[in-house]
Amino acid sequence: MLLKFATLSILLFCLWSCGQKPLEPDDDRLQKKMIDEQLKGRDITDEKVLSSMAKVKRHLFVPAESRAWAHEDRPLPIGYGQTISQPYIVAYMTQAAQLKEGDKVLEVGTGSGYQAAILAEIVKEVYTIEILPELAQTAKARLKQLSYSNIQVIVGDGYKGWPQAAPYDAIIVTAAPTQIPQELIRQLKEGGRMIIPIGSFEQELLRITKTKDGFKEERLLSVHFVPMIKDLK
Ligand code: SAH
Repeated sequence: MLLKFATLSILLFCLWSCGQKPLEPDDDRLQKKMIDEQLKGRDITDEKVLSSMAKVKRHLFVPAESRAWAHEDRPLPIGYGQTISQPYIVAYMTQAAQLKEGDKVLEVGTGSGYQAAILAEIVKEVYTIEILPELAQTAKARLKQLSYSNIQVIVGDGYKGWPQAAPYDAIIVTAAPTQIPQELIRQLKEGGRMIIPIGSFEQELLRITKTKDGFKEERLLSVHFVPMIKDLK
């Protein structure tokens, strides 16, 4: 009798636990670990960048099936042959742009919208251009859902920048052209910084600072970004 009761209890418990929600991956713990090991553990020291990377929930920007890998030290596919950049690279580029609170920033290559959100936590205004309408639409809806009112998502060709809102304090380019797009330099303020990967297979991340009579170029890091697409039209 006792044995029957015990078996029944175990059976009922199993049925009950099957009906419970499956355990969500521990995103908060993984995000903290990502910041400690991949960012602080390397050379990310800007407090504004670190707190933005802590505030924006990266798992909300990756496809549902990749959620378990959202905080890994690598880029992840977001569809249409594109990727969300590795967390360290997002933090590194943001830090290299030397941003201030009142800045207006242009991003080229919206992708998932993650880099735009990281910027929007730090600066006043963010304009982000995406050439693939489907990605732009998804990112726009996601950023709206997350209540970002200081980000404008634009469908267009990043080679042309967005002259309507220029000049910018900083421009961050997250796809690689083979040469520096001169139109983007034109849209920088004097003293403005552009962080951009240049090259085809071998790429170099550059910081270009606009000066009174031209621009200054600094080589920062070897990188690997998706190629910047030439205008589809
Ligand atoms: N910053 C993104 C990742 C960028 S992946 C994020 O945080 O998720 C590079 C993106 O640049 C892709 O979405 C790609 O479609 C876009 N892209 C490529 N060429 C472009 C161009 N000429 N103009 C605008 N966007 C472009």
